[in-house]
Amino acid sequence: MDQDSGNDIQRESKPMISEDSIQSSSVYLRDEAYYFEDGNIVFLVQDRLFRVHRSLFERSSTFFRTLFSLPQGDATHEGKSDEAPIACQDTVEDFQALCWAIYASPPEVYAQKNVDTIDIPKLISVVGISHKYELSTLRDWALDIIDDFSTTYPEKLILRCRKWDRVGRILTLAKMSKREDLVQRIQDDWLRRITANESNAFMNALRTAETCEELRMFHGRVYYTYLKATNIMSAKNTGAISIGDVGAYKDEAMAKLTDQRRSRLCQGYWSLMLLRPRLMQAPTLEDVPACSVHSSECTSAWQTWWRIILTEAQRSGRNLDDPVEIMEEVQKRLPNSLAKSPGHTSLYGSYIHAPPCDAVIRAQAQQMVDSFFDSLPDRFIVS
Ligand SMILES: [Zn+2]
Repeated sequence: MDQDSGNDIQRESKPMISEDSIQSSSVYLRDEAYYFEDGNIVFLVQDRLFRVHRSLFERSSTFFRTLFSLPQGDATHEGKSDEAPIACQDTVEDFQALCWAIYASPPEVYAQKNVDTIDIPKLISVVGISHKYELSTLRDWALDIIDDFSTTYPEKLILRCRKWDRVGRILTLAKMSKREDLVQRIQDDWLRRITANESNAFMNALRTAETCEELRMFHGRVYYTYLKATNIMSAKNTGAISIGDVGAYKDEAMAKLTDQRRSRLCQGYWSLMLLRPRLMQAPTLEDVPACSVHSSECTSAWQTWWRIILTEAQRSGRNLDDPVEIMEEVQKRLPNSLAKSPGHTSLYGSYIHAPPCDAVIRAQAQQMVDSFFDSLPDRFIVS
């Protein structure tokens, strides 16, 4: 079965207006809500005619202002009647949402501030289509409402989207609109759902990340989170299987992945697992020629510090199954001097005196952590 079927991400393509005037309106329906008899511009969207007020569309959109001011060539009547509508490459759902946002009454607008009446799918359509047609005020208004909602209810936004393609769409739009806090909240909730093995969360996250290069960090995290969720990197007991099943035991999920995705998952796993044993001891520091005790005192303090924080983390219940967990632990300790971190001097028989290069060492370690996390997607997305 093709896992990609029936769940396409709505892409934010460039506006496309048909050059051809439409010859007959006999097969088209008039939109129930947005076909105004006194409207003065007619749009055709899929099989639906919208007759609206040109000035309202021009008012806040550079795109529509330009469109209406263009010389019309042969199609002098384009947009003037049902027989010659302007064809738009949108969905009816999106275009209705655009009209709604333009014509909404104050109570309808106010209802979007209420958790019981907010209409997330409609607001996402507004963001998408107003982004496409450069109605920046409307786009920002809808994004603000979604952002506020997600701040108050960080775990409800995905639920309220009702379809994964909408989640992918709002994540991509939020990223393109530089709403980093909103992006972060959507990603966190999405990764949490992958961890919980929620059906289709992983596949749909891949589909979204693959269509938006700006989501590369998320892309890497999606693979990593999926690996964690399978427990493949974990040594902890994840439950017994029946004695007769051991011989044939294998992971069913792999079979559902395309060749490219399977290959990325395996490459990332391979790469992380190769790194893990290397991190069981402290990585070698860069030289500091100005420091006369570097190869003795500084290096030794750093190696002891590394050994102690890993041991302490494991004692406090962290498994440190993979390099990400190790790097997170190192990251957590870096704000403090090497001498301050270990709390178990008696266990190791040696107290770490702050070495002369304390700050330099921590700066090097911070750089190592940053470059590790920056390159996490590269471990998976090789091609
Ligand atoms: Zn030194």
